[in-house]
Amino acid sequence: MMKIATACRSCGGTNLTRVLDLGRTALADRLLTEAMLAEEEPVFPLTVWYCSACSLVQIREQVAPEILFGDLYQYFSSFSDALLLHSRDNAERLIEQRRLGPGSLVVELASNDGYMLKNFKAWGIPVLGIDPAPGPAKAAIAAGIDTMMTFFTRDLARQLRSEGRAADVIIANNVLAHVPDLNGFVEGIGILLKEDGVAVIEAPYVKDLIEHCEFDTIYHQHLCYFSISALRHLFARHGLHLNHVMHLPIHGGSLRLFVEKRPAPSPQLQAMLEAEVAAGVVTPEYYLDFAKRVEAIKTDLLNLLKELKANGKRIAAYGAAAKGCTLLNYTGIGPETLDFVVDRNIHKHGRYMPGRHVPIRPVEQLLTEMPDYTLLLAWNFADEIISQQAAYVQRGGRFIVPVPTPRVAEPERMMVA
Ligand SMILES: [Zn+2]
Repeated sequence: MMKIATACRSCGGTNLTRVLDLGRTALADRLLTEAMLAEEEPVFPLTVWYCSACSLVQIREQVAPEILFGDLYQYFSSFSDALLLHSRDNAERLIEQRRLGPGSLVVELASNDGYMLKNFKAWGIPVLGIDPAPGPAKAAIAAGIDTMMTFFTRDLARQLRSEGRAADVIIANNVLAHVPDLNGFVEGIGILLKEDGVAVIEAPYVKDLIEHCEFDTIYHQHLCYFSISALRHLFARHGLHLNHVMHLPIHGGSLRLFVEKRPAPSPQLQAMLEAEVAAGVVTPEYYLDFAKRVEAIKTDLLNLLKELKANGKRIAAYGAAAKGCTLLNYTGIGPETLDFVVDRNIHKHGRYMPGRHVPIRPVEQLLTEMPDYTLLLAWNFADEIISQQAAYVQRGGRFIVPVPTPRVAEPERMMVA
């Protein structure tokens, strides 16, 4: 059920330094049904390591993907408006820049419910989605997006290639960090990509994670936390060139990488690499300092919530996503503090948060129940959520933002957001 990696997932080096220990935690996306509350819940250690050879930050605990992304995996991309808009912009830019048309092929790895590929299909461009999670993949097929319900591997890339399918564009958003066989996955991209094709890959940026203390984005699904320095080593090993990078605000700070078969490094890539070296991203000390700040967040947040409870305040939370699970598990906050967690995803309603077992309810309950405070577990969509909840704020409800420093969001800011 769980393996412990003894060598770096990218370079195979064995000089790894442990930089953070988040304790034993339940699986972040394993939302529990009422019946499952009576069963023993699996918990696993969660520790973060730094590789001195290639600078990749990674966890060593590897839970079987079938457990992580099986039937209980209920993340549907289409439930976030910000993500949908972000995806459409990205797609339209690619169609124009790469001059895609009816003779092209766009392949998306971890295509979820087809939210991204729909944008290409709308312009008559052939698409293929690959995603192992049955719930989202079936939703994509129902929406008319050609989808293979499986994991992307080196072997699958070879199979597609032997069937005469090669990609002009490969999209892989928020999947690279999930892949146990990192080298096989990247090699597969090289096999499937046409000679003049481009792989456009988004991944959370470890420099943002550290600078903004986003420790709750660390969970068992995320095996790796990428810097540009570490990514360059990874792609180069498979004859691919990381040529350009964009720094995006989504998910607390992400990289959009442009990977091709010919070297053409952009000035922006060079500048970001230099900035990483200057900040210490390629040293273990950078991550050890972060661990101390994570501990301080836990203390401050617990003190803030304790004080509110002592004053008789009712507290709920917003966002039954994986990062919320890490935050609740690590801080130990549970049903004694939180009445319920709300989420827009109807598939989560009636279930319970992993580990801490707080019930998940529809978002409308913020207005019908009017908790005094709502802990914003999905802080990466803070602006979107706060503007959607203007009525809750007008009636006196307040949001608590947990990172980088736990605080009650100012109502003035909330009204204009
Ligand atoms: Zn390494």
